[in-house]
Amino acid sequence: MSKRDYYEILGVSKSATATEIKKAYRKVALKYHPDRNPDDKEAEEKFKEAAEAYEVLSDENKRSRYDQFGHAGVGGAAGGGFGGGGMNMEDIFSQFGDIFGGAFGGGFGGFGGFGGGGRTREQRGSNLRIRVKLNLQEMVEGTTKKVKVTRMKLAPGATFKTCPTCHGSGQQIRVMNTPLGQMQTSTSCGTCRGTGKIADKIPSGANNQGLIKQDETVEIKIPAGAREGIQLQVRGKGNEAPFGGVAGDLLVVIEEEPHKSLHRDGNNLHYDLNVSLPDVVLGTDVEVPTATGKVKIKIDKGTQSGKVLRLKNKGLPSLEGYGTGDLFVHVNAYIPEKLTSEQEEFFKRMRGNESFKPTEECKSKSFFDKVKEMFD
Ligand SMILES: [Zn+2]
Repeated sequence: MSKRDYYEILGVSKSATATEIKKAYRKVALKYHPDRNPDDKEAEEKFKEAAEAYEVLSDENKRSRYDQFGHAGVGGAAGGGFGGGGMNMEDIFSQFGDIFGGAFGGGFGGFGGFGGGGRTREQRGSNLRIRVKLNLQEMVEGTTKKVKVTRMKLAPGATFKTCPTCHGSGQQIRVMNTPLGQMQTSTSCGTCRGTGKIADKIPSGANNQGLIKQDETVEIKIPAGAREGIQLQVRGKGNEAPFGGVAGDLLVVIEEEPHKSLHRDGNNLHYDLNVSLPDVVLGTDVEVPTATGKVKIKIDKGTQSGKVLRLKNKGLPSLEGYGTGDLFVHVNAYIPEKLTSEQEEFFKRMRGNESFKPTEECKSKSFFDKVKEMFD
């Protein structure tokens, strides 16, 4: 399924302010709210779609990644290995405290605040979030990481029965007066915390939801092109749900381990290459580091200090899975600070010598010309 543009979903321009985005989201969310569109699958999809758009556009970081990379930049890529976006209803309603807090006087606080239409609450374990550091090589090639995660898991031998307070519905219905008229709302049952079930037999060591803490080693496949700030989703490896519902997800946030000599700028890499004066004068072969190893390059005779050499496709693969960045080698001729008297004599003799005078061509090449040349 192809994804619609987030700005289009909310009906705002790309330059919309945070306030405009919030306002637009309120409008769309109210229009497609499940309570106003009972049993309307299409409205529910629109409602979820708007929530996802708002989740991204209301977050400065995510919004700028989205502007730069599209859906792939915010974990919504189809394929490519990045966890598909998609929010569940709980995530959406948890977002509402912020959006509707003022208008609804806090009545729609936490999870399951909406939803009088007889929907039973999905029993879902909470998500876990971990950070994984990657070096440049791992970002270029992709990798598999084994991480230890402490999960809440259903204790062996735990059994449950239907909640006597709500008779299994998990909800208590209320009618509220809001600025938009009377709305039926339901709150989570206090006895069973909305799950519709309570513990029957709980093995020792487990909590009152029948869950017990357990360490587990989880293998995470990280695709090539992963980047700082990207979030991967490992389905079902979060906490298990109380009373045997669906387990949450393990969210893996990628961090970048800085390289000691390569600097990353988007998909491109930059390297400062210091070369001795005789080497730039006479020309030489040198080794430069890349994300995955080393490569030998030729420094031509008479290479000017400040020249930028471009090594095609030696950068990082693009997030969208096509195209690769380049490695730019910035040549810097090292000028000796100390000379023997013999060497000093040599340079004194060369002062004023024609060969050592900067040429017109060299003078006319401004910084901007060099940058232009680099991209030709
Ligand atoms: Zn209950």
